[in-house]
Amino acid sequence: MPILSDLTPQVDETALRSILRLPGDDAGLAAAAEILAVAVPLLEPRAFFRDDFVEARDETGVVIGGRSFRSRVLRSNLDGIERVFPYVITVGGRLEQEASAQDDLLRQFSLEAAADLALGAAGARLEAHIRRIFGTGPLSAMNPGSLPDWPIEEQKPLFALLGDGPDRLGIRLTDSLLMMPRKSVSGILFASEEAFTSCALCPRPRCHGRRAAYDPDKRASLGLDS
Ligand code: SF4
Repeated sequence: MPILSDLTPQVDETALRSILRLPGDDAGLAAAAEILAVAVPLLEPRAFFRDDFVEARDETGVVIGGRSFRSRVLRSNLDGIERVFPYVITVGGRLEQEASAQDDLLRQFSLEAAADLALGAAGARLEAHIRRIFGTGPLSAMNPGSLPDWPIEEQKPLFALLGDGPDRLGIRLTDSLLMMPRKSVSGILFASEEAFTSCALCPRPRCHGRRAAYDPDKRASLGLDS
């Protein structure tokens, strides 16, 4: 199964300045450049994915590659979809270790933000690669633990499905099913003309990571409040 190990480290400088509230003047640009000079050499973006098909489905979940996944939202998102791409991505552990070693909390936050942006960029590169190779349209992803409907426990069947892929990237699951290195993402990619994001189903207020407005009607239509 494919590993993408030639991903160039990428951190969007404009996005980084936005997160860090750095102005676009000389001082802001210099501060962002200094963070990037530390962060980028420590990034090791890599991705692994599988090309699978939905083998069975019922009201509460799907079977992919012989593994059962229980989620009404995943089931709904895969309605009418046959091909899926289970995946895992990491930017490695070196930047998060550097961030953890900082006494200055702002400095720590800045390096963490750079790692998050690099992880997002690696995800975009993986999506572009799959679209090019398999000729799919736009892809969306679901990630275990992103919603109570698809809890973190579902990392177990996902990692079982991914086989030795995570290990080859240096990713392991802790006893609490979190990934190490922390700056890693696992999930299932699927074709979706209408971009899906878990945030639309998440009522959590004041989340700085929110990527879509909360849609209570959509949540109700999926039976998530019953
Ligand atoms: S709103 Fe925040 S907590 Fe909820 S799914 Fe989005 S990023 Fe996660």
